[in-house]
Amino acid sequence: MALIVHKYGGTSMGSTERIKNVAKRVAKWHDAGHQIVVVPSAMSGETNRLIALAKEIMPQPDPRELDMLASTGEQVSVALLSMALQMTGKKAVSYAGWQVPIKTDSAYTKARIQSIDDARVRKDLAEGKIVIITGFQGVDDAGNITTLGRGGSDTSAVAVAAALKAQECLIYTDVDGVYTTDPRVVSEARRLKTVTFEEMLEMASLGSKVLQIRSVEFAGNYKVPTRVLSSLTDPMIPLEEEAASGTLISFEEDTNMEQAVISGIAFNRDEAKITVLGVPDKPGIAYQILGPIADSNIEVDMIIQNQSVDGKTDFTFTVARGEYVKAMEILEKSVKAHIGAASIVGDTKVSKVSVVGVGMRSHVGIASQMFRTLSEEGINIQMISTSEIKISVLINEKYMELAVRALHKAFDLEKA
Ligand code: ADP
Ligand code: ASP
Ligand code: MG
Repeated sequence: MALIVHKYGGTSMGSTERIKNVAKRVAKWHDAGHQIVVVPSAMSGETNRLIALAKEIMPQPDPRELDMLASTGEQVSVALLSMALQMTGKKAVSYAGWQVPIKTDSAYTKARIQSIDDARVRKDLAEGKIVIITGFQGVDDAGNITTLGRGGSDTSAVAVAAALKAQECLIYTDVDGVYTTDPRVVSEARRLKTVTFEEMLEMASLGSKVLQIRSVEFAGNYKVPTRVLSSLTDPMIPLEEEAASGTLISFEEDTNMEQAVISGIAFNRDEAKITVLGVPDKPGIAYQILGPIADSNIEVDMIIQNQSVDGKTDFTFTVARGEYVKAMEILEKSVKAHIGAASIVGDTKVSKVSVVGVGMRSHVGIASQMFRTLSEEGINIQMISTSEIKISVLINEKYMELAVRALHKAFDLEKA
């Protein structure tokens, strides 16, 4: 008998029919003698609907009230799933994050989990109950409901698995594993049997939304065996077959993505570029430009500073599109006040495409192959950034899918 955490995403919970299928699948695992905790997301579209409602009333919604609202989607899901399980004859109980409690900091809309009390859940499990806990939400020290950022149910599930020292965390979703790239963009994308933790961390941070990045961080920090698999198969397929399906996140490098040099391609449409032109090339400039941005909690991603000409240089960086307007407003004030005659230009029609692979450590020429492929497609590279296991380029958004497809082919990713 093992303790196993299941997570079901929005599509998997998308209708009462689908919820009944989830209940059948969960009941099958319970019948096999396992203790099961389930962490579902809101029904598909629900979180978007709630956020849109808020914006109809308040264009920049108050973050505390937004979390109060957005967290309700998951509360609907847990109650419906508990009822569906009870209809299969199982004992089941649902909890909101604050009832467990899942404690977070107070950073509304992007809160971080600080602790999870396992007492209540363990007691229920010992009584033979299936426990269902809302994904995406928690509670801060002052008792306010918080949410963990979009896609946050993945993080709730892995964190619950870590707190309960579960044998495995199974992330059920609408694809049957982690692919070499988003299979919705490249139909030849190939499912990976395993992916190293490091590669998954890069892919998630570079935009592959199959797992929220913080869930991968939790999996790594607490060594939670985590597997991504399909919720859309027949719920009654043999348990052994299901348990071995999908993609396992591995903590050992030698099992990495079938030994390929490049294991995957990630992309992110959520990028905006800002350039401060003609700033004096002297110590402290980067700090003067980026300091006020960081003070406003805006994350900066890629950064380049050009060679200076006549003591002046251009400084370019990227932020998430949703923070572009705020970043421009801050810069208009701070640059004008402290840096003088610089001008600021921006572009929100950019995307980032990245190739990822631990094999890059021991292979040269990956960057040149990437740049050659893009040049053959006539795609201009605006910015480049690299780490030990990834190369990212910023390009015009209208060439993003073309770039992903061309790179997928150039690196032979469709072949095992
Ligand atoms: P859920 O609602 O189950 O959390 P998400 O929509 O958040 O599901 O994540 C699953 C989606 O992630 C897939 O439908 C797929 O389009 C997308 N995706 C992006 N990159 C990848 C990848 N490398 N492998 C698999 N899926 C990916
Ligand atoms: N319902 C939340 C969202 O749509 C959390 C999740 O699905 O993981 O972002
Ligand atoms: Mg998700």
